[in-house]
Amino acid sequence: MILTVTLNAALDITYRVPRVEPHASHRVREVVEKPGGKGLNVSRVLAALGHETLVTGFAGGPSGERLRALLAEVTEEGPVGDALVPVGGNTRRTVGVVDGGGGATLFNEPGPLIAPAEWDRFLSTYDDLLRDATAVALCGSLPPGVPVGAYGTLVRAARAAGVPVLLDTSGEPLLRGLAARPDAVKPNAEELAGITGTTEPLRAAELVRRRGAHAVVASLGADGLLALTPDGSWRVEPPRRLSGNPTGAGDSVVAALLAGLVEELPWPERLARAAALSAATVRAPAAGEFDRAAYEELLPEVRVAARLVAA
Ligand code: ATP
Ligand code: MG
Ligand code: MG
Repeated sequence: MILTVTLNAALDITYRVPRVEPHASHRVREVVEKPGGKGLNVSRVLAALGHETLVTGFAGGPSGERLRALLAEVTEEGPVGDALVPVGGNTRRTVGVVDGGGGATLFNEPGPLIAPAEWDRFLSTYDDLLRDATAVALCGSLPPGVPVGAYGTLVRAARAAGVPVLLDTSGEPLLRGLAARPDAVKPNAEELAGITGTTEPLRAAELVRRRGAHAVVASLGADGLLALTPDGSWRVEPPRRLSGNPTGAGDSVVAALLAGLVEELPWPERLARAAALSAATVRAPAAGEFDRAAYEELLPEVRVAARLVAA
């Protein structure tokens, strides 16, 4: 089973209105609720690819209940196991107000304060889940109350259990996780620049590798992927520059890398799948979803080029 961790899971609510005007009353045409949070997106994509997967993190209060119900419903794409740990606070909601032109105005709640006893309960659940995991992904930001070094702790526990671990986060939590030597990290361009102070992706990726990641897969939006791994270095161009919704494209990169890892595919093949799957996610309306026909059409078009750099 592939385990994903989302410490800051959310209930995503989308309101559709013809247009947004400040200080005015709006009639909402449609309300859509979805399970939200980076690791949940990764697991939904993995399930749709036919992989057995389980999500953990926190869920609490009425919005936590709703999140779990929605997670049970997405099972038609492929079952996503629910191992979220109950907490006293209410799971955060994100509200996106989408206007007729497709533009979104977002409101993100901070998330419940996690008590020390709740964090301890999570750690023991995580240790139990690692016993049956073939790989684990640690995804997204930390909720209030969780120690800033949380990802360092979770990376070390995975390594001690012999489970390959991929980290996808930003800022100080990423730096703290890197120090524990994860198997892979997947920063986007902004996250790379944020922790290295350089906007030159290759230089930044090399710095991140030196800080402790065995492999760095940098996602550069429409410019594709740059991978520095123990087996070599590659540059992957997206099959085509697509228009659509890029939210969650990085989560699909993570899903493809995990799937390729457990299927023991060579790195170039993992990267080709990551580029096609993330592009197919840009073509789908929501994060955690991808256009399957686009994925199959794009995959044979992806070119993976070896880079001659000192990795
Ligand atoms: P998120 O965190 O929202 O999931 P991200 O910011 O971490 O996303 P990006 O670097 O924006 O990740 O996108 C991930 C990958 O998706 C890119 O490396 C690229 O392969 C693919 N991708 C993104 N935008 C496009 C696009 N316009 N056309 C084709 N492929 C794209
Ligand atoms: Mg992006
Ligand atoms: Mg991302």
